[in-house]
Amino acid sequence: MGRNVEEKAEELLAQTGIDSVPVDLECIAGHLGIKIRLKVFEGDLSGVLMRPRSGDPVIAINRSHNKKRQRFSLAHEIAHFQLGHAGELFVDQMVLNRRDVRSSYAIDPQEIEANAFAAALLMPRQFVFDAMVAMFEDGNVQEQTEIIGKLARTFDVSTQAMGYRLINLGLLTSVGDS
Ligand SMILES: [Zn+2]
Repeated sequence: MGRNVEEKAEELLAQTGIDSVPVDLECIAGHLGIKIRLKVFEGDLSGVLMRPRSGDPVIAINRSHNKKRQRFSLAHEIAHFQLGHAGELFVDQMVLNRRDVRSSYAIDPQEIEANAFAAALLMPRQFVFDAMVAMFEDGNVQEQTEIIGKLARTFDVSTQAMGYRLINLGLLTSVGDS
């Protein structure tokens, strides 16, 4: 599944003509004919994908969450759409896989796949490799947290999302104090 998701995300980026970061998710949504709505949701609800039998697909994002979380939520909902997950309605409360959470949500294959696709879309592997190489060529990076922080800013994602991404790409063996 892993490699497949990487390739599907790269395919979508290529189709949309995106060749720089931070990745323009609004452009991708537009390309796919998806309407984006910013809403205030109660509680922890982060994003909803509505795919009616007739009419345009709509992604609603919780605008009371911080911008980086909104971006991940949008990428996650785009993933459900693009991966052709079955269903007319997806309601997502938690978009990052937290390793300490053992909920059915965290082991639902579609949710895991959507998170993997979202990460691959927001942090395309080649762009991450290139950014990392460029950083080391600059020669002024020492701390792991500094590397993660800098890359997170470059890709406009949370440091947590970037940390997981670097581990999954085999570029880091651990994050922080673990
Ligand atoms: Zn989901």
